[in-house]
Amino acid sequence: MKATFPHLAHLDVALQLLYPVLGVEIVPPPPITQKTIEIGVKLAPQNACFPMKVTLGNFIEGIERGADTIFMAGGVGPCRFGYYGQIQRIILEDMGYDVHFVLIDSPRYGWGKFWNDFCTMTGHQFSPFKIKNAVSLAWKVLRFTEDLERVNRSIRCRVKDPRRLDVVVERALERMRYITDHFQFEETRKETFQEMDNLPTNDMLDPLKVGIVGEIYIAQEARINFNMERLLGSLGVMVDNSVSIVEYMLHFLPFTRSREKEEAWKLARPYLKRFVGGEGIDTVGSTIRYAQKGYDGVIHLYPFTCMPEAVAKGIVTRVSRDYDLPVLHLAIDEHAGEAGLVTRVEAFVDVLEMRRKERKKHLEVVGR
Ligand code: SF4
Repeated sequence: MKATFPHLAHLDVALQLLYPVLGVEIVPPPPITQKTIEIGVKLAPQNACFPMKVTLGNFIEGIERGADTIFMAGGVGPCRFGYYGQIQRIILEDMGYDVHFVLIDSPRYGWGKFWNDFCTMTGHQFSPFKIKNAVSLAWKVLRFTEDLERVNRSIRCRVKDPRRLDVVVERALERMRYITDHFQFEETRKETFQEMDNLPTNDMLDPLKVGIVGEIYIAQEARINFNMERLLGSLGVMVDNSVSIVEYMLHFLPFTRSREKEEAWKLARPYLKRFVGGEGIDTVGSTIRYAQKGYDGVIHLYPFTCMPEAVAKGIVTRVSRDYDLPVLHLAIDEHAGEAGLVTRVEAFVDVLEMRRKERKKHLEVVGR
């Protein structure tokens, strides 16, 4: 079995460690490019969600590299995520590709199917000890990739030479692909954060703080959101991203809880009481959390035509008014252009700077 999977942030780094131990040879798709998007857009229904189109492009590129099996996460309503895998499977069949499509649903919705999927993944031959060890190492690596990006986006606006920061991040991700045990993991982790700590920074800055909210794929996949975190960092902004694959998985798996999600849902309750699919509630709750933490602004990233985010957008507009927090809504799909998006983000940052100056002036006038 040669399996491929869709790209999402640095998930591939963890999967590359996990699957070989489970006896599955993996064929990662090449990094997402314009070609990946064009393949997906050409084959998918025109009104399909943008992430579905890009991941379809990943599958075709993975198959072209020799994959004969596809692993894809499943989902349930009320949005279109539950149909993703089914439609992709039918499209691949119609195209004449002879591949085994494994749709992995959360065990919360049925242990029987999850167990079958797991056996398919492991080729029905597995040692519980090896699996436990591989899962725990891959989980640590996944958490590390998110911690790495968290530090990356929070210090980028302060480091004197961001290219050196890029080198540290890229090297750490590359090293993590080849670690074999927990000892190597700890060593790489410590060295990486030490290197980040040692980068010369400009500590006199008082940067603007902007939070990112929105749909998981667009908010997390830098090759699709035009590298939003790095763009904001280059404009001198300290960035936080409320969307996390780790938190998504804690929510997806049984016997685990995502406290961050629970907190966001609680905050959102006065505005939105029902689950609307995807990250709709999280978008509302995280926007409120950023307002309460004194952030200067929020950027809302979502796929054009995304139903849960369309609901959230209307509510976030109210939250923005109630908390006096500027929010920039950016819908991204295959028609989005980098130049237009960069201009809008630059203009937004200008507005945030002006607001901060005005607030400072006002405080001086009233003598505080
Ligand atoms: S969350 Fe939005 S983009 Fe994702 S499947 Fe649902 S409707 Fe589509």
